[in-house]
Amino acid sequence: MRHVVVGAGPAGLAAIETLRALDPAAEIALVCDEPAYARMVLPYFIEGKIEERAVFTADETWLDGQGVEVHGGRRVEAIEPDARTVALDDGTPLAYDRLLLATGSRVRVPAIPGADGEGVVPMWTLEHARGWRGRGHDETAIVGAGFIAFTILDGVAARSRKLTFLEIEPQILPRMLDAPASALVAAHLADLGIDVRVSARVAEIGTQGARSVLRLEDGDDLICDSVILATGIRPNVDFLQGSGIEVDDAIVVDERMRTTVPDVFAAGDVAQGPDLLGGARGVRAIQPVAVDHGRVAAANMAGEDVRYEGALVMNILAAQGLEASSFGHWERDDDVTVVSNPANRIYRKYVWEGGRLVGGILVGPTVAVTGLNDVGMLKGLIQTGVDLGSWRGWLEENPLELRRPFVASGAATRLLESTLLAGRASTGGGFRWPAAPARRPRRDPHATLVGGSPRA
Ligand SMILES: Cc1cc2nc3c(=O)[nH]c(=O)nc-3n(C[C@H](O)[C@H](O)[C@H](O)COP(=O)(O)OP(=O)(O)OC[C@H]3O[C@@H](n4cnc5c(N)ncnc54)[C@H](O)[C@@H]3O)c2cc1C
Repeated sequence: MRHVVVGAGPAGLAAIETLRALDPAAEIALVCDEPAYARMVLPYFIEGKIEERAVFTADETWLDGQGVEVHGGRRVEAIEPDARTVALDDGTPLAYDRLLLATGSRVRVPAIPGADGEGVVPMWTLEHARGWRGRGHDETAIVGAGFIAFTILDGVAARSRKLTFLEIEPQILPRMLDAPASALVAAHLADLGIDVRVSARVAEIGTQGARSVLRLEDGDDLICDSVILATGIRPNVDFLQGSGIEVDDAIVVDERMRTTVPDVFAAGDVAQGPDLLGGARGVRAIQPVAVDHGRVAAANMAGEDVRYEGALVMNILAAQGLEASSFGHWERDDDVTVVSNPANRIYRKYVWEGGRLVGGILVGPTVAVTGLNDVGMLKGLIQTGVDLGSWRGWLEENPLELRRPFVASGAATRLLESTLLAGRASTGGGFRWPAAPARRPRRDPHATLVGGSPRA
């Protein structure tokens, strides 16, 4: 069996690892136009917390050890399903028996005159991060105040004396937080001296010497040293034209990560796949989903029959001393418990369906959110769909106390038992190069809490 994987991001690499584990004799070829690295650690590189080498997730030695035929620095330009080949940009045809498309997404440059000009840097690739670090940014403007803008906020703020957010919507983080939570985060940033402008539409980006001039539709001009575009992404699907593979918002896949063309699979940001809570198929452009997709696709490519339960809508951020996260149907307002203390930057919303939590928002300082493991517990309760029964009333009265309902509901046990590919843990820990940081031995501390009888 010959597998061809396109893309060396988290989805592609998780797939290669799984394919090799399940099918030691298979031929595996990888086509990638970038080296293997994790975009989600770019914020730490921008901030200078990690060296550039720490963003890479696999090197030639590891790929060689996995027996992977690497076509590095090459792009797939077309697929011919009838001939079972892909065409590379140098004209080479590559044959496949099973093909995985893990081509991720790219920046969507808005139709603003000057948006592709000098001094304007999108922030999606290692190349972009290098580019921004290499230029002056005493005063920086970030166009777009969504999830990606917030992932880079600490890094940009650490290197810029003055920072301005320009968001076209009436609130920041519009696809992650409801209006009250968003207002709380905006107030926090304003207190720190960050200029947050909402309903701000950029009409044009020009230059003034080495500086950029953002002309806003309301007539205001904002002059700064660098402009970062964080205005959204779109899937890399252009090369699929004529292939017969169905593309909606991205490549449509079923619960086995199969596309509409036989023996062609898709995974990660480029795949529009099942939703855990039974909603419409969607694109969930985050790394854990990419890894899960990659592993499920690979297992099915290797001949197993593995069904993906679906991705949970999940946004988790930490920026400027504040943590914000949202899950599932966080946007609903019909049956909710809300607690809010803007003075202390605390906001919580639980979205209910009967006794089950189906969505939620947590905002607060680290000590009040992650410090209590509440992010993980809220996610676990929504992910497992456990019925809290009478604990619903208790949580409504004690909304800052997730721990007791979490333990009482047995959600931890269900999480321990849930697995994508039974009995096969991922081995790489995300690093696939020889000098990777040492891993601590695997332990199962939660089992001590929820299984068997307590030991002294
Ligand atoms: C700054 C930043 C911060 C982020 N922070 C987080 C976070 O905190 N948490 C989180 O979960 N996620 C985060 N993400 C998102 C996360 O990085 C993506 O969801 C993840 O990278 C998707 O993985 P993927 O393998 O699907 O695609 P990608 O990582 O995009 O990899 C796809 C690869 O395929 C290559 N490719 C595309 N087309 C072709 C072709 N035709 N031929 C050959 N190769 C091709 C691409 O160049 C790329 O190298 C962040 C992203 C960025 C940019």
